[in-house]
Amino acid sequence: MTGALALAAALSLPSDPWLSWAEAELSVEIHTHELRAHVYRLASPEFKGRRGPGAARASKHIADAFERLKLQPLFKDSYFQPIPSLVPDKETGKEGFVGRNVGAFIAGSDPALKDEWILLSAHFDHVGVRDDKLYPGADDNATGVAMLLEVAEYFALRKERPRRTIAFVAFDQEEVGLLGSTHFCVDPPRPIRDLKVFLTADMLGRSMANVMDEYVFVLGSESSPQLRKLVEAVKPEEGLKVGRLTAELIGTRSDYGPFRDRKVPFLFFSTGQHPDYHKPTDTANRIDYEKLRRNAILIRDVTQQLADADEAPKWDAKPDVLDIDEIKTVHALVRRVLDRKEQFPLPDKKRELVEGVATRLEAIIKRDKVTAEDRTWLLWNARLLLATVF
Ligand SMILES: [Zn+2]
Repeated sequence: MTGALALAAALSLPSDPWLSWAEAELSVEIHTHELRAHVYRLASPEFKGRRGPGAARASKHIADAFERLKLQPLFKDSYFQPIPSLVPDKETGKEGFVGRNVGAFIAGSDPALKDEWILLSAHFDHVGVRDDKLYPGADDNATGVAMLLEVAEYFALRKERPRRTIAFVAFDQEEVGLLGSTHFCVDPPRPIRDLKVFLTADMLGRSMANVMDEYVFVLGSESSPQLRKLVEAVKPEEGLKVGRLTAELIGTRSDYGPFRDRKVPFLFFSTGQHPDYHKPTDTANRIDYEKLRRNAILIRDVTQQLADADEAPKWDAKPDVLDIDEIKTVHALVRRVLDRKEQFPLPDKKRELVEGVATRLEAIIKRDKVTAEDRTWLLWNARLLLATVF
């Protein structure tokens, strides 16, 4: 035991004082060491892969963080929203609960806009312990929760309040069919018609297929012309690049699903799938914390602009999905997969397939115009590539 640990034990502090102090540090700035402390804590064995009792403990940990920030509880007088199970308990016949969402809010300051709200979220659950192996879920989605806590801290500590109300929600049960966010939409704490934007982040600290180092993908801007403009205008910090994609390209892969179904404009932030996805190797030491910090700053800025804008985004029933930027983003990914032969030793047939995709993408970029036919082709091939190559 070192001197510091002996002191911690004597004061009955948690065994890793450095971690606790970095987590508990309250500052309006978003620092790499704070984000790192949150991810290491949430991915630790203490939370058992954030499923079952481990998820319950993680939800308490997040609620404590909201309370420390003096944010108001989102669900009447509670930070918790229990998620009912769909079938009654076999033995008791009573309705049980499968988990709980955690939520807090900061009230808007503008008398004309404060009933409108913006929701910033990240799921905190993961897949647990299987065959005695811990699945820490550091990227999926301790990184998203770390961002959520630090952005909430920013809004809680800064002097000016946002014009619209901002809710911060950590969803449970995302990994088992979006049960947490689905229940939230069925029994929302404030009217859904007043919810102007839904923002969520799932995996913010790695890189798609280990090749898209500088990229964060932003999906959903097609749901609203105002959101599209905002995403085009927002300037990420140097070293971070926004790759705009349409959500249709990947289908429903995170908590935006139930909100999109209710026609709430939405954005989904993610650095994408990597080889450690849903494996015991999704560990905290593999996270790029500088990238996570840049992502958190980007999401903070987007949230603030949405909270303070004169006009809220409107849902677009007929979105413009013929987006040359999307083609360029997909092309960058496909090109890198082809060029990094050592990292992606593709069998000949697959290489041919990916080469074919790259060639057509290059033709579209040269023409600088996406047609409806290109779009159909892209959707088909994106799914094929997701299923076979990544
Ligand atoms: Zn996830």
